Amino acid sequence: MTITSMRQWLAVLAEEKLLKVVSRQVSLQYELAALGKKADGRWALQFNHPEDFDIPVVTGFAGSRALIAKAMRVALPCISEHFSWAQAHPSACKIVDRASAPVKQVIAAGVDLGRLPIPVHHEKDGGRYITAGLLVSKDPSTGARNVSIHRLQVLGPNRLGILMLPRHLAHFYRAAEQTGKALEVAIAIGVDPVLLLSSQALAPLGFDEFTIASTLYGEPLKLVKCETVDLEVPAEAEMVLEGRILPEVRETEGPFGEYPKYYGPPSLKPVVELTAMTTRKNPIYHTIVPATLEHLLIGSIPREGGMLQVIRGAVPNTLAVHLTPGGGCRYHAVVQIDKKNEGEAKNAMLAAFASSQEIKRVVVVDKDVDIFDPVEVEWAIATRFQAGRDSTIITRALGSKLDPSAEDGVSDKMGLDATVPLGADPFRYERIRIPGEKDIDLESYFD
Ligand code: MN
Repeated sequence: MTITSMRQWLAVLAEEKLLKVVSRQVSLQYELAALGKKADGRWALQFNHPEDFDIPVVTGFAGSRALIAKAMRVALPCISEHFSWAQAHPSACKIVDRASAPVKQVIAAGVDLGRLPIPVHHEKDGGRYITAGLLVSKDPSTGARNVSIHRLQVLGPNRLGILMLPRHLAHFYRAAEQTGKALEVAIAIGVDPVLLLSSQALAPLGFDEFTIASTLYGEPLKLVKCETVDLEVPAEAEMVLEGRILPEVRETEGPFGEYPKYYGPPSLKPVVELTAMTTRKNPIYHTIVPATLEHLLIGSIPREGGMLQVIRGAVPNTLAVHLTPGGGCRYHAVVQIDKKNEGEAKNAMLAAFASSQEIKRVVVVDKDVDIFDPVEVEWAIATRFQAGRDSTIITRALGSKLDPSAEDGVSDKMGLDATVPLGADPFRYERIRIPGEKDIDLESYFD
């Protein structure tokens, strides 16, 4: 069965006992986030009584690579590769009428964010934050659709503060603002893992991220027209908020506990004014607890897929990429190549830096190194890398504005070539092994 909605996915998790239901009342201030964090990587949680709200909250339903592999219907080692393939083979979405769009079952009379169970996640957060909203927008000059996720702080009943990093949405907003216009947006909350992943593609400006979801589903993603803005949104979402990012308006947004496990500081940011809300009957709200594996992996697997495409453009014999959890699944990459020519490791690291502005450190390893095992990667650095010969430092490029060590995002980049030199004596790099060790059954030898 193709899973195209959050509800279907939750049903799969319930069947496999991976969804834990919390019926007792929990506080939306910290308690819900703390529980989500404790369950991170093990269980998805459904809170049926978040304070006095009658809308349940779910979190953590994409908290492991294994879960994501299941949602993508591919084997665990193939997820980034499969995403890369889907991105290279996008397929069209389908517009459905309102009657066949569950998200249109209830058209709210006005927008009141106070009626939604939106949590406060971290101790010093500036307030309640929407963290799992797919934000749909269109390029004001070309009409091309863009999909992205942004932290959204509740500033009033129909107002949200928004962080736009220097990517596609910020580009559209700047263009709209220059002509004195608002930028129309729609925010879809409560979608399945495949759709969340698709929104995070490292795609060029003008690429519609929704078309990746259609390929991953194997059928067109169903979209439906909005009520008050000229945009289309996923028909099977739990809820959609429509609105516009106002020109020339700035209000304080932040602090907000972010994926690098630090707070993004408060500053004046643009404001979304909401104009409509539509929901399913009995909707379910999804929150992503920041810096959990759910948060990190939804961002990293599409990035790994996109990086594979870019790095293979430079070094075709690139095998795999891993954005490591210690680097927030954004900053530190391990790239595995089947080196055929000396110098390819450096070309691969340069392509990796070019693929995503957030990449800060790249380690290139040979095909015998397990890139998902941090001990193996460190061992490769310890035994195959010499700092004077094999490190490359690029100073003052654009990095992550959320990295506290960068200067407003201006960041140095470091590449480590931990591949064995092609001309080296093979015996010096022969990995030790004990014949028979792999297949021996230790316990069968015990008295
Ligand atoms: Mn985009």
